[in-house]
Amino acid sequence: MIDEGYIKFDSEWHKGAPLAESTISELNRWRQQLYTAGLIGYYKDLKVGFGNISIRYGKPGQFIISGTQTGHLAVLSSDHYVLVSEHNVARNHVTCRGPVEASSESLTHATIYDLDPAIQAVVHVHNKTLWQRLINKVPTTDAKVPYGTPEMANEFKRLYRETDFARTGIAVMAGHDEGIISIGTSVKEAAERILGITATKSDDD
Ligand SMILES: [Zn+2]
Repeated sequence: MIDEGYIKFDSEWHKGAPLAESTISELNRWRQQLYTAGLIGYYKDLKVGFGNISIRYGKPGQFIISGTQTGHLAVLSSDHYVLVSEHNVARNHVTCRGPVEASSESLTHATIYDLDPAIQAVVHVHNKTLWQRLINKVPTTDAKVPYGTPEMANEFKRLYRETDFARTGIAVMAGHDEGIISIGTSVKEAAERILGITATKSDDD
């Protein structure tokens, strides 16, 4: 099922001023490319947005992420990004500060940043064709584990330790329909990993 857009975690939002445009400009450029490629967008029938993008910023454990329900917007600005200032994966809790509430998938991003300080950016997209093509062919989380749960954190720990996820930077969430994650040492690397696959035709299609 498409379970996008429902905030399962406990989110504490402190409404505040946007980050500087220069702080989010590179992040936003890649978000734009992912939106154009249809990897971030909006399920019209479900009236819910999908896909989100983040970069490490500030103190250890903090990151900037696109806001909840921004997938339908063709163009974002600093008004649509928020700093996740604290998170506790075990307690399903994030605290965010900015003009918009953090994406409902912030906990998944937090989980991934907790894996390794070398991870500087996380991209989460939805694409049915890509998901079907990659599932169980690249590192894939257990189908019984839904996104936004502490169990998903353990799944990513397992993938990072036991598969080539750390090296290739792409994983499929089997328990989150159409959901794919990429990571990188920069937002460019994370975004290009997904865009690179989208551009390549696989032989067995
Ligand atoms: Zn998703």
